[in-house]
Amino acid sequence: MSVVVMKFGGTSVANVERIRNVAKHVKREIDAGNKVAVVVSAMSGVTNQLVGYVREASLLHDAREYDAIVATGEQVTAGLLAIVLQSMGLKARSWQGWQIPIITDDAHGVARIKDIPGEKIRQRLEEGEVAVITGFQGVEPTRNRVSTLGRGGSDTSAVALAIAVKADLCDIYTDVDGVYTTDPRIVPKAQRLQKISYEEMLEMASLGSKVMQTRSVELAMVHKMRTRVLSSFVAPDAMPAASPDNWDKLGTIICSEDEIVEQRVVSGIAYAKDEAKVTLLQIEDKPGVAASIFGPLADANINVDMIVQNLSSDGKRTDMTFTVQGSDLPKALDVLKGAHKTIGYFDVTSSTEVAKVSVIGVGMRSHAGVAAQMFKALAEKGINILAITTSEIKISVLIDAAYAELAVRTLHSLFGLAKD
Ligand code: ASP
Ligand code: MG
Repeated sequence: MSVVVMKFGGTSVANVERIRNVAKHVKREIDAGNKVAVVVSAMSGVTNQLVGYVREASLLHDAREYDAIVATGEQVTAGLLAIVLQSMGLKARSWQGWQIPIITDDAHGVARIKDIPGEKIRQRLEEGEVAVITGFQGVEPTRNRVSTLGRGGSDTSAVALAIAVKADLCDIYTDVDGVYTTDPRIVPKAQRLQKISYEEMLEMASLGSKVMQTRSVELAMVHKMRTRVLSSFVAPDAMPAASPDNWDKLGTIICSEDEIVEQRVVSGIAYAKDEAKVTLLQIEDKPGVAASIFGPLADANINVDMIVQNLSSDGKRTDMTFTVQGSDLPKALDVLKGAHKTIGYFDVTSSTEVAKVSVIGVGMRSHAGVAAQMFKALAEKGINILAITTSEIKISVLIDAAYAELAVRTLHSLFGLAKD
């Protein structure tokens, strides 16, 4: 017997028929003797529609009311799944964030989970009841208002709940059957990874692979919560129930590095197109200039990723290039304009026609030469590199957006990731 949290994303609960399919996946687990809590997203498209209503009502709106509205999508699917499970003869009950309670901070719209008392739900699971829990939402206790965890937040709800009820496994059911070496829409020969380490998955998620919300991977990593990505589109009876001897046989399991025996240098290639490049021309080359640029950007909550500062040829003036998320560009330009006097740049240029392509793998820790190989292969395709960042387990390059797919394909075959 295992305690399993099963999370189903928007496409898996897109309508009542799909919800019936989800219920069959749940029933398979219960029939096998597992204890199950389910976390559901809103039906696909619903959260977007709700966000649209809010914006239509007023572009500038109260974040607490935004949450009151966008949290409703998950309430519908949780209730519907409980009804379908009951109609199949299972004991089931839906739970909203405030009822658990899933306690969050007060950053409405992007709230962080602070605590989930797991005993009550665990007790229900022990009694054989299926707890169906709304993803994406929690409650902010000071004002006693519903809060939401940011787009894609149901993944984080699921991992946090799995930790709270001391689950053996957190299963993320989605519309793909695992984590791939790269996006199979770009590289049809991309392979499903059987296992990936928390660190690599975190890089994959934050560098553009949209399989799981970044924060959920962070949480799984910190608490070593074994998490699996698998497809809900496989026939429920064609799949074995979760058990310790098949955890790594289905989908992709995200686990500790030392559980991965197969050694590879590079595990995956990620790419992100929602990038913008900003260049400040002719800034002074003296102490304090970088702080005068990145201080105001940080105060405005704008994440800066890659930074390149040129050497000045005359020791006086230089250029600074950096990247921000594409959606943050207008705000970033605004902030820089406001700080023009203190920074003292000559001009600012920007472009959203850039993409970031990254090579990820824990094997890079012990293998030299990955960067050199990568740069050479890109050069051979005539792809110019605009900026570079590295960490112990990844190398990212910023390139012209038009070359993103060519770069992904080139690197995917360079590092031998394609299936034969
Ligand atoms: N329904 C929410 C969203 O679309 C949360 C989720 O699906 O994870 O962002
Ligand atoms: Mg999602």
